[in-house]
Amino acid sequence: MPTTTATATIRTSVVTGGGSGIGQSVAEHLAAAGHRVGVLDQNADAAEKVAADLRASGAEALAQAVDVSDRTAVEKAMGVVRERFGPIEILVTSAGIESQMPYPEIAQDEWDRIIAVNLTGTFNCTQSVIGDMQAGQWGRIVTISSSSAQSGAPERAHYVASKGGVIGLTKALAFEYAPHGITVNTIPPSIIATPMAEKAVEAGLVPAIEDLAAMTPVRRAGLPGDVAAAAAFLCSDQAGFITGQAIGVNGGWYI
Ligand code: NAP
Repeated sequence: MPTTTATATIRTSVVTGGGSGIGQSVAEHLAAAGHRVGVLDQNADAAEKVAADLRASGAEALAQAVDVSDRTAVEKAMGVVRERFGPIEILVTSAGIESQMPYPEIAQDEWDRIIAVNLTGTFNCTQSVIGDMQAGQWGRIVTISSSSAQSGAPERAHYVASKGGVIGLTKALAFEYAPHGITVNTIPPSIIATPMAEKAVEAGLVPAIEDLAAMTPVRRAGLPGDVAAAAAFLCSDQAGFITGQAIGVNGGWYI
């Protein structure tokens, strides 16, 4: 159950993809706000390291290794968080994968793989926790989509479609759950300097981060903390009148 302190209400949160990049920074921000954090990631070692670091900083945190496309595994991991920390009131879905290739080369299994993680994974995680939020008549869900789903992007049709689906799912849930004190928003970032982006740079799929910084209207690279700060605000009590929104964190790339 939520615990109210003099300054804030301490809640139970879950961050998927919490072992790396944007998700790791979101986990750190939520812990800094005093929340209990379940760090879910398919990379067990990375999730455990993030949770251990959060505990070392004084937060309550636990790690669960889970593939978000596996509904049974998701239910189990959410159950562990719930049993240890209580009903889940905050969910940030950052687990995701990317892929880039010309449209004719996207085989059915590659399409399915991207949709399974990015879109069905978001469905699995949101549906697994929405009952907790509805029971408590309070909840915050932030999905991480992509600015590529707002602008379109070449040679990424499967990724863009999966993230467009996330934006649509976010808006649908926002409407359905608004009367229950639950807000559902999405952050569609532009390129953010994370291990995912570094791999894309190394593969020659996107320009070097320094070059991107020079091309970005605000003239610097996007950092995980830029997304995490916005996500943490959307998860706060103060953000209760914001729902169904795509809050761009993109340095001016998409306005
Ligand atoms: P990241 O550094 O690769 O972190 C993503 C984390 O999610 C990794 O630990 C990854 O594990 C994990 N993950 C991947 N598939 C999973 C699955 N099926 N189940 C559970 N965990 C899984 O990437 P990021 O840059 O922080 O990206 C976070 C989110 O932001 C993604 O949804 C991405 O699409 C979105 N995004 C990123 C950018 C960007 O430029 N960085 C821009 C727009 C949107 P592995 O390391 O084992 O894969």
